[in-house]
Amino acid sequence: MVTRLYTHPIYLEHLMPAGHPERPDRLRALERALEAEAFERLDRHLSPMGDIETVLYAHPQSHVDKIRALIPSEGLASIDGDTTVSPKSLEAALTAVGAANAAVDDVFAGRADNVFVASRPPGHHAEKVTAMGFCLINHAAIAARHAQKAHGAERVAIVDWDVHHGNGTQDIFYDDPSVLYCSTHQMPLYPGTGAKSETGAGNIVNAPLNPGTGSETFREAFNARVLPALDEFRPDLIIISAGFDAHHRDPLAEINLTEDDFDWATGELMERAARHSNNRLVSLLEGGYDLQGLAFSAAVHIARLMKG
Ligand SMILES: [Zn+2]
Repeated sequence: MVTRLYTHPIYLEHLMPAGHPERPDRLRALERALEAEAFERLDRHLSPMGDIETVLYAHPQSHVDKIRALIPSEGLASIDGDTTVSPKSLEAALTAVGAANAAVDDVFAGRADNVFVASRPPGHHAEKVTAMGFCLINHAAIAARHAQKAHGAERVAIVDWDVHHGNGTQDIFYDDPSVLYCSTHQMPLYPGTGAKSETGAGNIVNAPLNPGTGSETFREAFNARVLPALDEFRPDLIIISAGFDAHHRDPLAEINLTEDDFDWATGELMERAARHSNNRLVSLLEGGYDLQGLAFSAAVHIARLMKG
């Protein structure tokens, strides 16, 4: 497998208040894990800046204008109790969009079988018109639309295994049967959405997990709900909203996954990508707030992408 990695130093310049879990050290920890010899053959690239026109695939111009108006010339400004912007935050978010779209271009052009984007801020809580939950712009949603508009993809699946429900992605595609959104997440937990009964146009598949559950329950939910939905949908591209905060060490949730579970889930999705999508798989970093849990899990995930 040819696996490409996008990242960029601008992601470290999206600053948060002291003690905030979504901090630049997350990417530094992952970067250190990827220095191991096993990752020498990763095809590493700097993320390009995203086009505003592609942001408008998922958000109205007013959403971007609102964020831009809040960006301070120095220090921090808060959007809500959890979500903060610093002078470079919009540039960082747009560079996450650029990398996600470039990753889609790469897998459709055959430059890579699969791609991991190590970026921040995350995106899956960003709704059409609301930045929230550490997220400003929904890069997974934009990448799905980009695959449809630029590459003629008819059906795109987004699988979100972040421990929080991706309310933003669900909001953006709620009435759009051309995009399948599948999520495993702890419930109850922020943001409160993600019940099984939220099914959209039949394209939303939520698999909520009880607090305190772990590997077995996660794999059961994946096997019972996510994988059959993918087989029925036959996507032209699979996008993973890859948060690693369902790891047992994570401080923001109570799901007890290990690195092995992320390795297993990656393998299952690669098998579906091989079956339906000509291997095309794009994985975008979302959450993960324990530095070791995040770095080790993401490294195992990327190693699996490389290995096939
Ligand atoms: Zn999360």
